[in-house]
Amino acid sequence: MQDEKTYTGGCHCGQVRFECTTDLAMVTACNCSICTKKGLHITFLAPQSFQLRAGEDNLREYLFNRQMIRHQLCIDCGVEVFARGKKPDGTEVVALNVSCIDGIELSRLTLTPVDGRSL
Ligand SMILES: [Zn+2]
Repeated sequence: MQDEKTYTGGCHCGQVRFECTTDLAMVTACNCSICTKKGLHITFLAPQSFQLRAGEDNLREYLFNRQMIRHQLCIDCGVEVFARGKKPDGTEVVALNVSCIDGIELSRLTLTPVDGRSL
């Protein structure tokens, strides 16, 4: 397992930028509808490990199903950078699209299967 590192990243057009600290130990390969259609691989972060550095006003929120997860999309390039939600115990969590991390190589990550379709 890798140590925690601080990464930068953003959307495709670059208007939305963030910094985050994570060990990337748990990256999802989830079969739910949105992860499947968007090809999303998510890692979960405590809100204090994620800082939006630019583009707060360039985000559009997308809600569906029980509207528990607030998906954040760049209004220009359409990339979903992250989502905000709550864990079952009520604590806030950031779901980061790891593909938005600068220089990420998906094929080098260990993906953890998640059966989101059944949740
Ligand atoms: Zn963008």
